[in-house]
Amino acid sequence: MLIGGIEAGGTKMVCAVGDENGVIKDRASFPTRQPEETFKDMIAYYRNWDIQALGIGCFGPIDLNKQSETYGYITKTPKPGWGNCDIVGAFKRELGIPVGFDTDVNGAVLGEVTWGAAKGLDSAIYITIGTGVGVGVYVNGGLLHGLVHPEGGHVLLMKHPKDTYEGKCPFHETCVEGMASGPAIEARWGKKAIELADREEVWEMEAYYIAQAVTDYILSYSPQKIILWGGVMHQEKLFWMVRKEVQRLLNGYVAHEMITTDKINDYIVPPALGEDPGIMGAVKLGLDALG
Ligand code: ADP
Ligand code: ZN
Repeated sequence: MLIGGIEAGGTKMVCAVGDENGVIKDRASFPTRQPEETFKDMIAYYRNWDIQALGIGCFGPIDLNKQSETYGYITKTPKPGWGNCDIVGAFKRELGIPVGFDTDVNGAVLGEVTWGAAKGLDSAIYITIGTGVGVGVYVNGGLLHGLVHPEGGHVLLMKHPKDTYEGKCPFHETCVEGMASGPAIEARWGKKAIELADREEVWEMEAYYIAQAVTDYILSYSPQKIILWGGVMHQEKLFWMVRKEVQRLLNGYVAHEMITTDKINDYIVPPALGEDPGIMGAVKLGLDALG
């Protein structure tokens, strides 16, 4: 059986075809332009495949309320042309198959829970730290939606005592995205993150912020696994720095060996699906839409 999976991003749309085991058979990438011309390319791609369903992990904010008239829409994005865009409807109409829909990060956590680092667990979170910061939440065996959907990339943080940077987020002074995203690092230190690799103070501050957010998610969701990824996490030292800082911040309060001992190395981890949690998760969203 073939299922389509789309990772819908602000700069590119990755379209893939996978099977019920998450094995990706083919993929193509299209630059994100205006919705109509972008969808045309994507639909033409899928017409070459006999897919039974489609899943879309999408940049947001999006409407996930199935009772809403605008279910399946990208809602209020500042991205020109994409506000109030019926992305699910566009594919349903043209392809006539069930379409599953969720945030890109919920798609990614679903991929890791189904086939990756959190396989078999019933609670996990996936945090991407790249151009933006996003958090996908899987709790009690399902993706968390709620009033809208979680926006963990914008939880508020204590400012580092030595940080004079005012923050990159236009909505909040000190949220994770504002303080710890790739563009925030670049604006604070005046160089691209990758060029700051050997500057210890850069990563000490970065770990301080990421760990605060991770600590808040541990306290709020009690996840059984925390998967960290995105361009910034290519600085691999951040993994042990964040683990250590999480232990310091929690200060023994959550008295579980996964946190208080070296088992934390297996608790806060990179994805097991390499660069593919999002696209494999999108395939799973499609599979689940089949019912
Ligand atoms: P996006 O979030 O746009 O999907 P990425 O997850 O690749 O894309 O994140 C891009 C961000 O990650 C950029 O701000 C870039 O500076 C940062 N980045 C990419 N590679 C590295 C690296 N090796 N070390 C530190 N930061 C990096
Ligand atoms: Zn913010």
